[in-house]
Amino acid sequence: MKAHTKMTATLLLATPLLAGLSAIAWATAAMAETQSPKPQFNTGNDIGYDVNDPSYFANYAPELPAMLARMPEISADTGLHLSEIEPGLFFVTDGVYQSSFLVTDEGIVVFDAPPSYAHKLPDLIRKTAPDSQIRYLIYSHNHSDHIGGAGVFAKIEGLDIIANERTAESLGKSDRTDLPLPTITFSGDHQFEFGGVPIEIATASFHAEDVDTIIYLPDQKFVMAVDTITPGEVPFMNFGATSDVGAYMTFFDTILEYDFEHLLSGHVSVLGMREDVIINRDYAFDVRQTAGKMMTTFFDEFETAFANFEYKNANLGYRAAIESVRRQCAEEIIDRWQDKLSVVDVWADSHCETVILYNIMH
Ligand SMILES: [Zn+2]
Repeated sequence: MKAHTKMTATLLLATPLLAGLSAIAWATAAMAETQSPKPQFNTGNDIGYDVNDPSYFANYAPELPAMLARMPEISADTGLHLSEIEPGLFFVTDGVYQSSFLVTDEGIVVFDAPPSYAHKLPDLIRKTAPDSQIRYLIYSHNHSDHIGGAGVFAKIEGLDIIANERTAESLGKSDRTDLPLPTITFSGDHQFEFGGVPIEIATASFHAEDVDTIIYLPDQKFVMAVDTITPGEVPFMNFGATSDVGAYMTFFDTILEYDFEHLLSGHVSVLGMREDVIINRDYAFDVRQTAGKMMTTFFDEFETAFANFEYKNANLGYRAAIESVRRQCAEEIIDRWQDKLSVVDVWADSHCETVILYNIMH
């Protein structure tokens, strides 16, 4: 900018008529040199919409063909995909959220009620099983984006809502008055049989700030662990926005102990399989190891940056060190995983940063 101003001034000097203006240009340049720079607030690593921006959105890799091939068809009429994945067990998605319901001889069990489409569920369920009553609604965890549409079931007579007692406690304390509170709560494990179908709910910890559950239907080899992985893709930002990175990393061993073929993890349109858990585990462990080994240089990077900032801004020094390690980690991770999992270039930096912060604190 300074060089440009000087060049402009030189050109102006060549024209006597504009000599007065050149003096102003020189004065402006001199002022800029003596004043401290005006802060240019860094508001984040935004996706760019300008073709010259390195973060230009089209520079991000498209979803991998293997992922696109697995995406189920969404009905133009309902905006939903509905499929019977095992006899009586139905999978529902709007392409962003996922839930399911089970039709038995004694009635219907609904698992989660995402607000993005829960208002369509009663009708969808009625059309699928016209002679059956909804008897149970089970909450996977307390987050509104997965159960916030439960109000549509509230008026069903004789309906029981099942949730972990800590989920119920969190909901009781929240101001979400439109969300019906659980009528049956449990701690630890809760197993029951309904219409001849065993349903096993285990208390777990991998995502929510209070408690998570793993819902398992052994006969259907179906397991539901919401906000864990996204099949075909790397996990969502900060490892499924987990509130506990350590617990998230141990989740893989826990879930792989189950004998399952179908995994409902709550997001994107693709229903998961056992292999999806394994590849996501390998990815998560690779990020943990890659960022972990780079931590050895973290404090050197901080020292260098802090010295460069004349020991005046430790926060900026921290940020510089985090960014440097994050960039090196993300480069390695993207390089290794770009052909195996979709959207790694979108989230690798957040995964690396999550591990860096975890390592600083543990
Ligand atoms: Zn959640």
